[in-house]
Amino acid sequence: MSTVATPSRLAEIVELSRTIAEPHRELVILAEGNTSVRSAPDRMIVKATGSAMELATERDFVEVDLDAFWRLIDSDHDGDAVVDELFRSATLAGAGRPSVESLLHAVCQRVAGVDTVIHTHPTAVNAVLCSDQAELLVEGALFPDQIVVLGRRPMLVPYVDPGLPLAREVNRLLVAHIDAYGERPRAIYLRNHGLFALGSSVQDAVQITDMAVKCARILTGASTIGAPVFLAEESAERIDTRPDELLRRRMLDVARTDVATELD
Ligand SMILES: [Zn+2]
Repeated sequence: MSTVATPSRLAEIVELSRTIAEPHRELVILAEGNTSVRSAPDRMIVKATGSAMELATERDFVEVDLDAFWRLIDSDHDGDAVVDELFRSATLAGAGRPSVESLLHAVCQRVAGVDTVIHTHPTAVNAVLCSDQAELLVEGALFPDQIVVLGRRPMLVPYVDPGLPLAREVNRLLVAHIDAYGERPRAIYLRNHGLFALGSSVQDAVQITDMAVKCARILTGASTIGAPVFLAEESAERIDTRPDELLRRRMLDVARTDVATELD
């Protein structure tokens, strides 16, 4: 990838991908999952299709033109042929073909403040997402650290065919979510599919992924014992806004790189 805009970001995403795929994390197996980082205001580096994150090297990533992705997502063009053409014409560096889920990464990377996106199929999270209780993931907060890391408004997306239809649906739901709550979600749960973590840095996206897994485990445990009890609205609001928790959130985000620009 000789023409990559920011070679250090390529090294970062390789390390990130290998970390995320460590077997003990139970986030992905085989070629599941993918990652992206912003390499310029209109470029992202994203995993190529078919490769295993556990064995990732620099050759397993491509750099793409985000403007071209966003134009297709906003258009009414449809079908596999237009996606094939996009992947050919919008790949700026690297030999592989962008993952089909790179369309969804482009949607997430369009949100102001997002720099790193991690998509995984965590066993613990998917156990909930594949049940009839998936709404519990977004109904409320169970404990304070959940709010500090995941925020108060994660998003749940119904099952949609992966590719362009899913990218357009998430794009539509994201705009509606930000309109309704005045803030972006930090975690997006896809029913019967998996998790997207929208981080302001590599470290932030890893923390969001880890906390989403912990939440799913606690939710499952609480549901086994009885019924989950969510924090009261005023307690959750207080955690979200009190100065010491805001400081903790900033301290957790020390590696913030924030190259994302004011896109909407
Ligand atoms: Zn997936």
